[in-house]
Amino acid sequence: MGIAYFTCSVCGSTYFGQEVQYTCPRDGANLDVHCDFETAETKPGIESVLLSPKQSIWRYASLLPVPDPGFAYTPLHQVGLTPVYQPELLRERLGLKQLWIKDESRNPSASFKDRASAVVVARALQTKEEVIIAASTGNAGAALACMAASVGMHAIILAPRTAPPAKVAQLLVFGAQVILVDGNYDQAFDLSIAASQTFGWYNRNTGYNPFTAEGKKTAAFEIWEQVLRKLDSAAPPLTIYIPVGDGNIISGVYKGFQDLLSLGWIERLPRLIGVQAEGSAAIANAYLAGKDTIEPVNAVTIADSINVDLPRDGLRALRAVRETHGTYIKVSDEEILQAIPILGKVGIFVEPAAAAAYAGLVRALATGQQDSAAPVLVLCTGSGLKDINAVMRAIPAAPVIEPTTESLKKVIYG
Ligand SMILES: *Cc1c(COP(=O)(O)O)cnc(C)c1O
Repeated sequence: MGIAYFTCSVCGSTYFGQEVQYTCPRDGANLDVHCDFETAETKPGIESVLLSPKQSIWRYASLLPVPDPGFAYTPLHQVGLTPVYQPELLRERLGLKQLWIKDESRNPSASFKDRASAVVVARALQTKEEVIIAASTGNAGAALACMAASVGMHAIILAPRTAPPAKVAQLLVFGAQVILVDGNYDQAFDLSIAASQTFGWYNRNTGYNPFTAEGKKTAAFEIWEQVLRKLDSAAPPLTIYIPVGDGNIISGVYKGFQDLLSLGWIERLPRLIGVQAEGSAAIANAYLAGKDTIEPVNAVTIADSINVDLPRDGLRALRAVRETHGTYIKVSDEEILQAIPILGKVGIFVEPAAAAAYAGLVRALATGQQDSAAPVLVLCTGSGLKDINAVMRAIPAAPVIEPTTESLKKVIYG
């Protein structure tokens, strides 16, 4: 519920209390937050979580660096505890023993990003910030706007001019001040940091604010509570497919499992598989080349939520996969689009970035990288309603008919 200290993810320096706010003062790298339960003599008990009446990420407050901020009857208290489905049709189709799909579109702003924004806004409330800013291609901004609206905080979002219209509309509807930058995400990112420094606004940027990963780790807690706890410990480890852009989701999920391991609530880590679009694969490229340095790319993919030139959390994302004996997988835009109606057939409507995770599983099975006897979970990170233009490319157009039974019969029965 509090912060014990911070460590730099690159140089390992330790910082306490007010010494740091965002990144490491020495090398500018991402900071890992260490929560007070790590150093506490009495550790939180499993029951404190399992018996919590809260149906949201706040049931894990004892494992978070911020206390539950209240606002119980707002969207801030509806983040997380998203459903896991077991689609029999897909399990059979893939020839897997066990398959789960975790549906993050069920978060208040319809993406995984609500987890990070909820914890960052809770932190902003704690430190009495008045204005919060983020650069975002869409989902992070929408999540921040939604969480800020829940608590009446002013949010400013800088988005690249090319962000999908539905995502921009969502930002505006949530009442955020939206400014479209005539440039790419990286330029919006740098501008938001300059603005924070100049105007004193609190910055939520992914790969900059250390609390985003703390919010994202709640997905690991839920996967533990909803799936891992019920698995046979003699079975091969759970394999989790995660779409990767900046690498902050996979880093956060890894951190969550590490927390559980250090508490002794799990005995081994699940395998984490990072899935990137072929045209935006800076982290996967480094992994596959066995390198520790990440070369930026000129990213081009239909999956705009994972379209990233220079990943902001690449090193931790590499580590998450290496230390869990996972791998990185690249998928084409075509494979991503194909996955959308396949998931749709079992009632799950995803945006392309989320479909990429499923496409990664399909590719892994085809290339012998996934043991079909191992339990598998696919993290579907965002709703198809977020990017209708992209989704429409994955499905045929509907036929138009005269309003007669004759015409209907012709279309249905041929
Ligand atoms: C942000 C996002 C991702 C990728 O997360 P990173 O932390 O950038 O790796 C995947 N899917 C969706 C829907 C997202 O919004």
